[in-house]
Amino acid sequence: MNCPFCKHGDTRVLDSRVADDGTCIRRRRVCSECEKRFTTVEQMQLTVLKRSGATEPFSRDKAVAGVRKALKGRGVSEDALAKLGQDVEDALRAAGSAEIASHEVGLAVLEPLKQLDEVAYLRFASVYKAFASASDFADEIAGLMAARADAELQQATPEIAAPETTAAQAEPTN
Ligand SMILES: [Zn+2]
Repeated sequence: MNCPFCKHGDTRVLDSRVADDGTCIRRRRVCSECEKRFTTVEQMQLTVLKRSGATEPFSRDKAVAGVRKALKGRGVSEDALAKLGQDVEDALRAAGSAEIASHEVGLAVLEPLKQLDEVAYLRFASVYKAFASASDFADEIAGLMAARADAELQQATPEIAAPETTAAQAEPTN
C-alpha cells in the first residue's frame, strides 16, 4: 500500500500481530522512500446477505439508519448513535461469521438500543419485529419493565464485600 506521508508505493512490514481479541491484525510498516512508520489494521470483511439474496459489505451507517429514524426527537447525540453502531459491529465481529443475514444486523441492534433509549427501542422493535397490534407493544413493554425490575433488584442487593483482614492491625505495635 502507498505511504500515507509521501505516497510512495513501496512499504515494508516490520511487525505483524493479532490484536488481543483476535478480530484483526495490526501491521507496523515503514516507507522505503521517506522511512516514516505507520500502522495498518487488517480486519475481516463483514458481508451482509440481504433478503433478496444479494450481498453487500457491512456498513455501520446502514446498520444504524433504522435506529436514526427510531431516535427522531429523542435528544440522543450523534456520538451515542455512533457508539451504538460501533457496538453493533463489535457484536457481529465477535460472533465470528464473515457473512451475516440482514435480520441478524437488526437483532444485534436491539440490545444496545434498549440500553440507549427505551422509546426508540420500542419504535425500532415495532418495525423490526413487525408488531401487528397494541398488544404486541404491551408484551414488549412488559418485557422491558421486567428486565428493569430485575436490574434494580440486583442493584439494591450488592454483594457483601469480603471483610478485610484485620490481623495486621491486631498485632501489638510496640
Ligand atoms: Zn513515505
